[in-house]
Amino acid sequence: MTANIPRSSPGFSSRPGADEAGAPPFVCLPPSRRFAGPETAVGCLATDDLPAMRILVVEDERQLARHITRALERHGHSLRTEHDGALGLQSALDEPPDLVVLDLNLPSLDGLAVLAQLRSANSPARVLILTARGEVDDRVKGLKAGADDYLAKPFSVDELIARVEALGRRGATATAADLLKVSDLQMDVHHRRVSRSGRPIALSPRELDVLQVLMQEPGRVFSRTELCERVWQRQHEYDTRTVEIFITRLRKKVDTGFPTPLIHTLRTVGYTIRPP
Ligand code: CA
Repeated sequence: MTANIPRSSPGFSSRPGADEAGAPPFVCLPPSRRFAGPETAVGCLATDDLPAMRILVVEDERQLARHITRALERHGHSLRTEHDGALGLQSALDEPPDLVVLDLNLPSLDGLAVLAQLRSANSPARVLILTARGEVDDRVKGLKAGADDYLAKPFSVDELIARVEALGRRGATATAADLLKVSDLQMDVHHRRVSRSGRPIALSPRELDVLQVLMQEPGRVFSRTELCERVWQRQHEYDTRTVEIFITRLRKKVDTGFPTPLIHTLRTVGYTIRPP
């Protein structure tokens, strides 16, 4: 049902200040809902010398979607928006963004279903989910379903920017050409690919980050806090429960189906990866 448009397709463009200049608001884009134009922001730098990202916002509260979009555009990112789950999924598959800001409660297809389908299609996009206040379980459900991070409503613009750019930073820094190997598990750090016994393993960007930290020092035990600090960097972005969820996800993908597990938990101490 998708057109398989290459990742480099210039569908996004940055329009900083477009609203101030009297341009149509975000919801009044051409029928294709794509940003066309020469001023694509791919390759530009956003704040803090971070690469500008192509961001898809899927949020049915139009005012909030506009608010998020404007804030991210002001930070140099390229934005696209959808107000419906099915359209958001289609958009993310047709023209893969670097990051999806995904509301969970959406018309036609809820956010968790969108996320599940993105992950089963091996979408490389990082996903930041927006959860309503009081829906504590949604955070856990979202992370288990493959989200890279979450933000609880109501949130401040500063918080949103910090989360988005932390996700961008992780993508931007993991570029050292390197091949990590633990037993039959391999990670091509440069291309962000993982395989075990030659069989490719699809991981979300955050899962890759956690696995990379472990694989860089096989046999070393990382406490939950240290793992958090290495991967999330900013203290407000994690709690140790988050790490446990990521380790569970990694175990399922890396160890299930193989006779010897590589990821080990040392009760009350932390986690390690080591050859059998
Ligand atoms: Ca909603």
